[in-house]
Amino acid sequence: MVITLQVSKTLQAKIRKGCPWVFSYQLQNPGVTGSPGDLGVIYDSSKKFLAIGFYDPFSDLRLRILQTGAPVEIGEDFFRRRLAEAVKLRQSLELHGTTGYRVLHGENDGFPGLVLDRYEDTLVLKLYTISWAPYLECLLGLIQEVLPVHRCVLRLSRNARKPVETHTRLRDGQALLGALPDSPVRFRENGLRFEADVLHGQKTGFFLDQRENRQRVRTLSRDRSVLNVFSYTGGFSVYALAGRCRSVLEIDSNPHALKASLKNIRLNFQDRIPGSSDWRQLHGDAFRLLDKLGGVGETFDMVLLDPPAFAGKKKQKARAVDAYRRLAAAGAGLVRPEGVLFAASCSVHVSPDDFFHAVLSGIHSAGKTGREFLRTGHSVDHPVSFQEGGYLKAIYLRIF
Ligand code: SAH
Repeated sequence: MVITLQVSKTLQAKIRKGCPWVFSYQLQNPGVTGSPGDLGVIYDSSKKFLAIGFYDPFSDLRLRILQTGAPVEIGEDFFRRRLAEAVKLRQSLELHGTTGYRVLHGENDGFPGLVLDRYEDTLVLKLYTISWAPYLECLLGLIQEVLPVHRCVLRLSRNARKPVETHTRLRDGQALLGALPDSPVRFRENGLRFEADVLHGQKTGFFLDQRENRQRVRTLSRDRSVLNVFSYTGGFSVYALAGRCRSVLEIDSNPHALKASLKNIRLNFQDRIPGSSDWRQLHGDAFRLLDKLGGVGETFDMVLLDPPAFAGKKKQKARAVDAYRRLAAAGAGLVRPEGVLFAASCSVHVSPDDFFHAVLSGIHSAGKTGREFLRTGHSVDHPVSFQEGGYLKAIYLRIF
């Protein structure tokens, strides 16, 4: 069914510029009802077609826009064209020894509320809305036309899980194609080998969005001692070791992640696993452990800070900015003169400017000087097509 939604002129203008969302409180005909999978259409004030998208009765995000401007039929051909564009954009990755990357990055690739990650021949399809349920079979067919698929695993976001599992037969963690893996799946990134737990891991099992930063860290690592804070499954550590760093110390609060990191290191360096003095792990809270390391006077040539999102909601922004500042202060305090500090943020509600400012102010409060030499953002497989689509920012500084 197709239902008509009415929104203000201001929102119409935003949609025209690429905003892909209509929240329930923005509807001017809030009494409108529909079912999962229904399409919602918006006409502008002169009754001309403006946009069409997925209507989701179970989410505050009531409409996720698929197409703006010219009317189009939403169906197999439409999705085939969009998927082909997305696959083409990522073609160069495999040439560089990368078989783990994001194939569809939600709204930014024209697939609102849907993420598709590839780990070699295992795909993970993550839904953030029930709206895709009626289209899944069609989509799986199209995916198999363009990608080598051995299996496809379904993951449901925290918000989508209840409506999807109540109203459809789909279940979080089920196999949509092939059989479920009985162990983490393997893939390559810039020629290095990794495993991802696609069933239980964070995101879809790996932080694919940090690939380019990891590659840069590899080039900066030679003969350096590296502190990898928030190490998760050891992505940055493996690259630092591949770049012939002198030593790595990992910090993470998740014991499973620390174990998985050891496996990833073994996978790459079986015959020359670094000795215990070259490679250590600390389990616990990063803020507390950084203070402790400072207390005993440990220092490093390079400190990497890649924490989880500190601001999941807008109102957490001020606290998040303060956490980034404190973290940068603690991290910078451990960097030897002329060493490197890398700090990243994936909080969508903290702007790049606010984040970079927090890092610089943290470094200053630690009594150090930071000379910035690089800022980075999104990589090719995590394109940004609208303002809120950008979340990742990172800064590299030399510390004096
Ligand atoms: N840098 C990683 C991704 C980091 S994800 C990579 O490239 O793969 C964030 C990590 O921070 C998770 O592993 C989580 O367990 C850890 N974490 C969250 N809060 C923490 C805390 N207070 N102290 C230490 N680790 C924490």
